[in-house]
Amino acid sequence: MTQSLQDKLQQRVAEAAEAVLKRDGSIGPLELFQQLGWLHAGHLAAWRRGDEHHRALMDSIHIGPNKLQRAIGCFQEWAKRRSLHPVEVTYTRRTPAGIETLRVTAEAGPEQEKAFQTHYAPGEKAARVAARLNRPPDLVVFQKVSEEGRCSECGAELLQDGLLTMEKGQPLCLTCADLDELVFLPAGDTALSRRARKHSSLAAVVVRFSRTRKRYERQGLLVSEDALLKAEQECTEDAPQRAQARARAAIARSAEDGLFVEALADAVLKRYPACPAAEARQIAEHTGRRSSGRVGRSAAGRALENPAIDLAVIAHVRHTHTNYDGLLMSGTGRIEARAQVREEIDRVLRRWMRV
Ligand SMILES: [Zn+2]
Repeated sequence: MTQSLQDKLQQRVAEAAEAVLKRDGSIGPLELFQQLGWLHAGHLAAWRRGDEHHRALMDSIHIGPNKLQRAIGCFQEWAKRRSLHPVEVTYTRRTPAGIETLRVTAEAGPEQEKAFQTHYAPGEKAARVAARLNRPPDLVVFQKVSEEGRCSECGAELLQDGLLTMEKGQPLCLTCADLDELVFLPAGDTALSRRARKHSSLAAVVVRFSRTRKRYERQGLLVSEDALLKAEQECTEDAPQRAQARARAAIARSAEDGLFVEALADAVLKRYPACPAAEARQIAEHTGRRSSGRVGRSAAGRALENPAIDLAVIAHVRHTHTNYDGLLMSGTGRIEARAQVREEIDRVLRRWMRV
């Protein structure tokens, strides 16, 4: 191992760690390895959910034991240099039988397991981070994707699209898991879900593995029937108020959008004084519509700067003052079509800029 290789690793680790710390406010080895591309996010999620194929997370970390050890060393040195505070985290998952502790290493010594449990955070945030990271996650119920399988306790057949939970790496039907009294509430109605969950003393999140997207996706909740009824009642009672609040928010948004469009039309005219006012308005509305609801203050600010205005005006001229759309329709490639109309666009722009 040469010095330069060691330096390189040190630098990679430090950069990845900084990025995660900035994003999450704290960092642990698993987040670091994920950032470095050594651990797939899907594998990490499967392990945290107790998936039987990901019991030993170590097997999912795609890097040799020596390099792993050195990387952890670099990580700990980096944390020391940054004066971060260690936060011990126990990885747990909630199962019908109670809280289960998850291990990263299958049989390595407690020393290495401890290294995996040590997260780092700035001193003033350490207590809050410790509370957040040590909170056990939701009880998770899986919607079955594959066709075969039996409950590990009663032997009942587990059907495709049916629900099951995992306990100690083994599938369990909802009856054995004592969850069969719960009712399914599909995701979608946020207020109803939030309330039903609050009222339900026992609740679980239902997820389903998407093979195309390679990740678990939330399908809804399992809650008690009483809780669901109570939540539905509450939602009916204050539905008018909530509808009103939604309408108020929509009005505020559209007023904001309106001001934004006006400011944008003014900015277009300032830069292109000979552009017809109606067209400036059209350009501004188009840009505003495209970014409506999604632009933050900074994005809106950027849209008012010259480079963004030029792009918006060019796109407008291309579609309304040249044969660009016709060329595309007749099968001319986009690059070729753009080249053909470039001079024409420039002529319009120069005229509008009065140069
Ligand atoms: Zn069973």
